Amino acid sequence: SRKVQPSAEELVKGILSGNISALSRAITLVESTNPSHLAKANDIISACLPHANQSVRIGITGVPGVGKSTFIEVFGKYLTGLGKKVAVLAVDPSSSISHGSILGDKTRMEELVKDPNAFIRPSASGETLGGVARKTRETIILCEAAGFDTIIIETVGVGQSETAVHSMVDFFLLLKIAGAGDELQGIKRGIMEMADAIVINKADGDNVAKAKLAKTEFNRALHLFPAKSSGWIPTVTTCSAYEKTGIDNVWQIISDYFALVKGNKYFEEKRQSQSQYWMMETINEQLKNHFYQHPEIAALLEQNKKAVEENQLSPFAAAMQLLAKYFK
Ligand code: GDP
Repeated sequence: SRKVQPSAEELVKGILSGNISALSRAITLVESTNPSHLAKANDIISACLPHANQSVRIGITGVPGVGKSTFIEVFGKYLTGLGKKVAVLAVDPSSSISHGSILGDKTRMEELVKDPNAFIRPSASGETLGGVARKTRETIILCEAAGFDTIIIETVGVGQSETAVHSMVDFFLLLKIAGAGDELQGIKRGIMEMADAIVINKADGDNVAKAKLAKTEFNRALHLFPAKSSGWIPTVTTCSAYEKTGIDNVWQIISDYFALVKGNKYFEEKRQSQSQYWMMETINEQLKNHFYQHPEIAALLEQNKKAVEENQLSPFAAAMQLLAKYFK
């Protein structure tokens, strides 16, 4: 017997009643590369949009090995213990290359995955960060409509993905570990500047003293950055995901942040500007795709690349010729 796919209306109804299988199916449509799924996905998102937004969105980044999945599992359990509904999503553009996502991997969050108040979804795959980021952003809406009030977005602290995640969350947490006095090396300035909190994980055993020292150093370094328009002063703290210590303190910091930005209206302003940012990003992405996928453009592009290589055309002239052809 042929399997009948649920309609957009049925899926929306399911999502709004908190049905996880409807949520998963809708996310699969959002992630699909099949153009016929796009319209259905858009209908579902539009219907869910008025029911979304009742959440806090937290981005968590850190280099591999820092303890992201261990931390998120313990932190997620702590939050469900407070009665929250937690969705864990991931942005990992490399997962399409490695064909197996390292982030949001359910086998790495064994306890959380069993928790009925938690929902874990690994990274969408895609050719571009833009594509993966769009899918995650839309998945946030669906999760919120399904009643998840705390959205955690995990990303690896390498490459451009932190910037994309920063643009879709309210609070950005940088997870670190204490090194041998070289804490500040190897961190891109931009990432530290984005952080609302730096949490030094693995503050246990022999590491406790080093972690405290790192905390002082990060605090000092953070003071060198310009004040944030949120009015928030970034905070440094230590924790041990392994020993489950300091986790409550991380949540306290995040709660303090939300109390501040909901009071001074920064919360709404940021969400509005993020929505506009994603609208512009989508236009840019679609224009680019349309341009490069145009058969005549693709042919002329190859031709002009060669001409530029052989100094027969200047790069500018070659570009203008292509654009003229596209816009004719
Ligand atoms: P990720 O790559 O950032 O997701 O890091 P994982 O969560 O996979 O952790 C990397 C390693 O660090 C694992 O062996 C964990 O058991 C260990 N780890 C994570 N958190 C802690 C911690 O708080 N203390 C200690 N000592 N080890 C930890």
